[in-house]
Amino acid sequence: MEWEALAERAVRREAIDREEALAVLEVPLSELMALLAATYQVRHHFFGNRVKLNYLVNIKSGMCPEDCFYCSQSRISEAPIDRYPLLAPQEILAQANRAVAVKARRLCLVASGRGPSDQDIEQVEESVRLVKQTFPDLEVCCCLGLLSGAHGERLKAAGVYAYNHNLNTSEDRYAEICTTHTYQDRVNTVGQVKLAGLSPCSGCLFGMGEQNADIVRVAFALRDLQVDSIPVNFLIHIPGTPLAGHNDLTPQRCLAILCLFRLVNPSAELRIAGGREVHLRSLQPLGLFVANSIFIGDYLTTKGQPPETDLRMIRDLGFEIEGTPDGIASSTAQLVVELKGSRRNVE
Ligand code: SF4
Repeated sequence: MEWEALAERAVRREAIDREEALAVLEVPLSELMALLAATYQVRHHFFGNRVKLNYLVNIKSGMCPEDCFYCSQSRISEAPIDRYPLLAPQEILAQANRAVAVKARRLCLVASGRGPSDQDIEQVEESVRLVKQTFPDLEVCCCLGLLSGAHGERLKAAGVYAYNHNLNTSEDRYAEICTTHTYQDRVNTVGQVKLAGLSPCSGCLFGMGEQNADIVRVAFALRDLQVDSIPVNFLIHIPGTPLAGHNDLTPQRCLAILCLFRLVNPSAELRIAGGREVHLRSLQPLGLFVANSIFIGDYLTTKGQPPETDLRMIRDLGFEIEGTPDGIASSTAQLVVELKGSRRNVE
């Protein structure tokens, strides 16, 4: 395969076809670096060497009535996780402070559950207003489950910028990872997000036994939905969840998957999301030649690597952190990070 020619077409936003997409996933190891180099040209064309940092806050944990097989917060999960109701606005503001301290551009507020109640929306509105009053330039994304149009409009009015709802896998195998809602329910929510004027964020989760054809289908589905940002998750094996122990990923396969998503969705913000440390391991920096966004800090119910490790990785690559809000210096030098109650002096 002529990887450079494929990348040149992606720069021109010309669609690659399904056969070419499958060839990306089947890239021989001897050609992986050539594929990465070609795909970097696409990343560089649309995003330069900027890296966007996103900070996750689990604002409501566990007790979910849904049965997503990969999730530690589902009703069928036996994982020993923290369970708590919606955080109060002041607690969310404290998390926003931490997000800004680690140079995050976006604060991602994630609540477990099938979808928000009117009362949940009211409380989230209050929290978002407080965050936006304090940090006007910090983007807020909500991920609260299946969304109605009315709730989407209220979130937008409160200052929410984006809404995340992942497709996760292909339509064909959705029933193999969840039985309490459908793939179409998820597509409908992405539609409501767009109608409400929120920036649509939707991605996927790999390492659940999917075939290459499934990966290609979901990559094309996200292109058809024209989402602005795409988090690509790699399954973290959490004991007590039905999919624990299942692992068909290698660092090389994760890189090929990221290349596919960049080539199919060239100008979308591509985020290496959950599982980055576990599955890319020492190849994480190579992932940033393809993706332009990562989470910094911890994930919903599992730990990430320390923020200073991510900041150092970005600096070592010679890349820049995308616009840090509220006048906080963009240099990674002398950053004092206060995270999870412990103070760490970075560099
Ligand atoms: S709806 Fe969300 S919180 Fe609930 S089980 Fe599924 S992924 Fe987990």
